[in-house]
Amino acid sequence: MEKNPYSDDFAQASEFLRLALSLLSSRKIPPSPLNYRIGYDYVAGNNTQLIASLDELFAQPDQVSRKSLWRMYRDFFVQDEKALDMIRQELRRVIMSVQGEFERSGGHLSHYATTLGRFADILDTAMPADVMEAEVQKVIEDTRAAERTQRQMESQMASLLSQVESLRKELLQIKDESLTDSLTGIPNRKAFDTTLENVIHSSRERKSPFCLLLLDIDRFKQFNDVHGHLVGDKVLRFVAATLRRNLKGQDLAARFGGEEFAIILPGTGLKGGYSVAEQIRKAVSSGRLVEKEGEVAYGKITVSVGIAQFRMSDLPNTLIQRADSALYLAKERGRDRVEQAA
Ligand code: GH3
Ligand code: MG
Ligand code: MG
Repeated sequence: MEKNPYSDDFAQASEFLRLALSLLSSRKIPPSPLNYRIGYDYVAGNNTQLIASLDELFAQPDQVSRKSLWRMYRDFFVQDEKALDMIRQELRRVIMSVQGEFERSGGHLSHYATTLGRFADILDTAMPADVMEAEVQKVIEDTRAAERTQRQMESQMASLLSQVESLRKELLQIKDESLTDSLTGIPNRKAFDTTLENVIHSSRERKSPFCLLLLDIDRFKQFNDVHGHLVGDKVLRFVAATLRRNLKGQDLAARFGGEEFAIILPGTGLKGGYSVAEQIRKAVSSGRLVEKEGEVAYGKITVSVGIAQFRMSDLPNTLIQRADSALYLAKERGRDRVEQAA
């Protein structure tokens, strides 16, 4: 987790706020959160690159647009892209240095090949012992040098390998983070969309069934209002953990948005899907969320679930819509229940 880049005290931050707003308004830039953050960092003066970029932009007033400001925001504040870029540059640096090493040692080795070639030629001719001795001495020296070069290459390559491996780990981590919902730790909507496309594809190819479940927490707004959002967040984590416990193998549970979850059950027909949905519904409603130390119990949490089975003609959206109508039906018929698409 990155640390908070702003450590200003109240008066200081208020002054930056005033300056940032006046900067934006003098340029007729709306003080949206994105623009404000750019403006704030500009007047706070702790990011020289940002200041230079913004000055450059201001030098051509016709270039100041929503698009150029958004691009700036992304460049300076969207961490994934910055991290990826750093990895790209780092990888490039490592590759270039090994490439240089290759070229250098390639030179050494071709010199060595020439020495050997010359020596072979000499062995074809009759020659005095002292000349022969000198040639042998040269071959030994060159062989030692080539051996050293070889060893250097090996260690360079080992270090390249370990650097590339650690970069690969960082890349995987960024990829994982971009596909994970940070609140619940389960896959996010983006991961769900990709998986759904893949499952639809393979289901068509293999002519195997699959089901989509949409699950929505009942009366969650009310729950938040009574117990507060932080407890609400706990409920979201509790539901996500319950899903994880009740699914297996190829199944995928994702946070679909807000207090809705989507579950993909590959290779499962309506009947199987229904029983998984029931199992989840019961597991949630029989679970108890209690405050860690105290005795406070938050009462029963229930969910409604809509199921739709994939049809060969389905697109992701049509399948989602059917599951959503089924979910709507479950709400209408009293909540804490499972319904399937008509
Ligand atoms: P229904 O039974 O019809 O689904 O009622 P509901 O109150 O659950 O439905 P509604 O869509 O009106 O409200 C959803 C609520 O979910 C609104 C919002 O406060 C809450 N919510 C959405 N995302 C989050 C979140 O990340 N954390 C918390 N604590 N609450 C959230
Ligand atoms: Mg909802
Ligand atoms: Mg709800």
